[in-house]
Amino acid sequence: MAGRAVGKRKKLRIGWFTFTCCEGCATVFVELMNDHFKEWREQIDFRHCRILKSKNDMRGMDLAIVEGAIASKDDVDKLKTIRRNAKRVMIVGSCAINGMPAALRNNFDAKKMKEIQPILRKFGHLPKVEPVVKFIKVDSQVPGCPMSDKMFLAELGGYLAEFGVKSAPGE
Ligand code: SF4
Repeated sequence: MAGRAVGKRKKLRIGWFTFTCCEGCATVFVELMNDHFKEWREQIDFRHCRILKSKNDMRGMDLAIVEGAIASKDDVDKLKTIRRNAKRVMIVGSCAINGMPAALRNNFDAKKMKEIQPILRKFGHLPKVEPVVKFIKVDSQVPGCPMSDKMFLAELGGYLAEFGVKSAPGE
């Protein structure tokens, strides 16, 4: 599949999206930039990345990267919008994959559950915090809490190759 040409170069158009979580996986991503930003600047068009810039646009993404669990109706709507705008979706970290540890409130006892009901109703929260995979199809997962940096680099390299931005390993 062809990537988008920017000037003479093709770049992978990516978005990074954070839902309910501690943002520890985003921190790993930022740490990786210390070593990789020079090459990524040539290879990646950061279309939507609030940790890097204030003006963002999620339309026409090649790859959306999602961290965090889904806690509200608004989250579900936004997640589905992301899926519609991205050719591929990669989820990173255990919160996105299985909900935990962001889904801690799912394990509250009956008394605590009752106490939080008014807050859940007021802010349109779901009865339970859910993993991303409950609502959309995803194309790949990077496990870990925080996410594995090695597996993230391998997955990203695969998408750079798939979209024709760089050669696949061994080519
Ligand atoms: S998986 Fe862990 S590090 Fe990543 S956002 Fe969730 S709690 Fe934070």
